[in-house]
Amino acid sequence: MTTDIRSLEMPNAEGYFGDYGGSFVPPELQTILDEITVAYNEIKEDPEFINELTMLMKDFVGRPSSLFHCKNLSAKIGGAQIYLKREDLNHTGAHKINHCLGEALLAKKMGKKKLIAETGAGQHGVALATAAVLVGLECDIYMGVIDIEKEKPNVTRMRILGANVIPVTRGTQTLKDAVDAAFEAYLEDPVTQLYAIGSVVGPHPFPMMVRDFQKIIGIEARAQFQEKNGKLPDHLVACVGGGSNAMGLFTAFLEDKAVKIHGVEPSGVGLEDGKHAATLTLGQPGTLHGFKSYLLQDDAGEPLPVYSVASGLDYPGVGPQHSLLKDIKRVNYVTAGDEETIDALFELSRTEGIIPAIESAHAVAYAMVLAKDLPKEETILVNLSGRGDKDIDFVVENYGKKFGV
Ligand SMILES: *Cc1c(COP(=O)(O)O)cnc(C)c1O
Repeated sequence: MTTDIRSLEMPNAEGYFGDYGGSFVPPELQTILDEITVAYNEIKEDPEFINELTMLMKDFVGRPSSLFHCKNLSAKIGGAQIYLKREDLNHTGAHKINHCLGEALLAKKMGKKKLIAETGAGQHGVALATAAVLVGLECDIYMGVIDIEKEKPNVTRMRILGANVIPVTRGTQTLKDAVDAAFEAYLEDPVTQLYAIGSVVGPHPFPMMVRDFQKIIGIEARAQFQEKNGKLPDHLVACVGGGSNAMGLFTAFLEDKAVKIHGVEPSGVGLEDGKHAATLTLGQPGTLHGFKSYLLQDDAGEPLPVYSVASGLDYPGVGPQHSLLKDIKRVNYVTAGDEETIDALFELSRTEGIIPAIESAHAVAYAMVLAKDLPKEETILVNLSGRGDKDIDFVVENYGKKFGV
């Protein structure tokens, strides 16, 4: 295993971060992935592409997102100072628009006509449908019929934006089946379509490419924090589903040895009875959806069913770079459960007036635990990956009583 600091950021030519990543796909798809890698490596140095993306990040997404000191929450806890990187303030309400715009622009430059993707809760679907409109591409979103039923507002958003939401009726009719259906559709016509993966997962070059498009989060936050405080934060905290918002924040700080980094996985209703999605905490290396990484799998290597109160975090795999960062102990991977996460969602809402996405509330929950035992001078920077508007009905229906709603 390598601990060369540069390999923390760059995969090798085959897309490996240490032992993880790579590309495990049929040969006909490998040809297309190689083309995407070549196009991406050219485009990322192209001033025209960089300018266009930078302009859109500013004028369309609303970047830079702000850095906010939670004085009320920090005072109430009585320990370290908590800061939020406000990705919830981006257009469409989360960090996903950062990589969707990048992928859409790349597709356009490659002469593709259509973006396709899967979606679970609909967040990636909405961000991609938005990017497709802006850049002028068609958009097909594959979604299990159970999720379509559960996530009506996001389905409506995608349809208003002109995307085709294609119901997937096979298997469990949820995310994994939607991935399979989208992959099949992609294989039928990989020439005019681009499969826009929704996190730092999948075969090379997606973990690298999505990470690169997200790393603006950490670049901004590092400069903003230094300007405010004249130093770097002592701790970083981000939730980890596939791992894109976390890599977005962490990348700019990986070489700052004094900055302690924490990735928070969902322990759901508890690590003991299997109802969780704590891939790095309890998984073993394996292969899924075309890449090697830690996985929650059975003895035959089949992905296990996973669960979290946050549908954006319930994936049995994780981005390969996180697996390397775990093994070399650069990032400390921890968990937060459903109950403490919902408590944190209400706590942030009622101390700071910010309703976080349930995904992001996992990071807030861990930051609150961490802050308690640290001195007041220490600082914790949390990536608030998204806003909670999508979750309010669910939260009130299931947990409202406890909080008098
Ligand atoms: C999708 C989503 C996540 C999980 O995805 P990552 O790739 O792990 O970042 C986290 N937060 C929000 C708000 C999301 O929409």
